[in-house]
Amino acid sequence: MIEKSIYENYHIDFSDSYESDDAYYFIFNNEREMYLNKDKSLPKIIDNFNIDFKLYIGKYMDKDTFVVNVDGNGDFFNLKEVYDIDKDIYLMATRAVLVRDWYMSHQFCGKCGTHTQLDEKDMMLKCPKCGQVHYSRIAPAIIVAVRKGDKLLMAKHSYHENIRYALIAGFVEAGESIEDAVHREVAEEIGIKIKNLKYQKSQSWPFPNSLMLAFTAEYDSGEIKVDGDEILKAKWFKKDEIVRYDSDISISDWLVQDFINHF
Ligand SMILES: [Zn+2]
Repeated sequence: MIEKSIYENYHIDFSDSYESDDAYYFIFNNEREMYLNKDKSLPKIIDNFNIDFKLYIGKYMDKDTFVVNVDGNGDFFNLKEVYDIDKDIYLMATRAVLVRDWYMSHQFCGKCGTHTQLDEKDMMLKCPKCGQVHYSRIAPAIIVAVRKGDKLLMAKHSYHENIRYALIAGFVEAGESIEDAVHREVAEEIGIKIKNLKYQKSQSWPFPNSLMLAFTAEYDSGEIKVDGDEILKAKWFKKDEIVRYDSDISISDWLVQDFINHF
């Protein structure tokens, strides 16, 4: 994962009416893919696109920066491809794409169906009829590396396309704390109890809108018992038995690497 802060190169701001003649554009199409120049740099012009909307999102690399949605295809790349092309652009794209998604998906009030209006000051879409406000939506999720001595717990999830062993993860349910979520997910998926839960770090994960909160924990008690439906198998791996992820894009890869470094 990229460990540096998005704010190293970015100053946050927002406007739907700001104009600039020297800017960077994060241009997405309706497939949520991002446009890059032929030399894989960020575009500085948008004249040749059929623009759906354009929003100012602050300064990136000291330049005015916009997120744009267009009707287009061609030199567009999905976000994982963007990560492989340029890590810095990817980091900024993880914000740009969520601003785009928020704007596109809250054009109508979810409560009463009225066309929403952009707030004058904040990045908020407001319903003129019922007053409901619509902010960018982030779904908190937990991921945990559970250790038993020098072994790491990994499980095979049935929903993965390429079924392979991965760390335990899941969404935080309404009403529970993130710590509750970790204990519950491990108990539900694996049937064991854990202890010494420690928060490590977080990562914005725009597939589609998660905020991943990474923990380490130690085995406490119980036997591995999986449901055979969501989780097919689970077992303890020594570090040389772990099959690594294909990419280092995710915080799960960071957790696995952290385990390998220490045990
Ligand atoms: Zn409403």
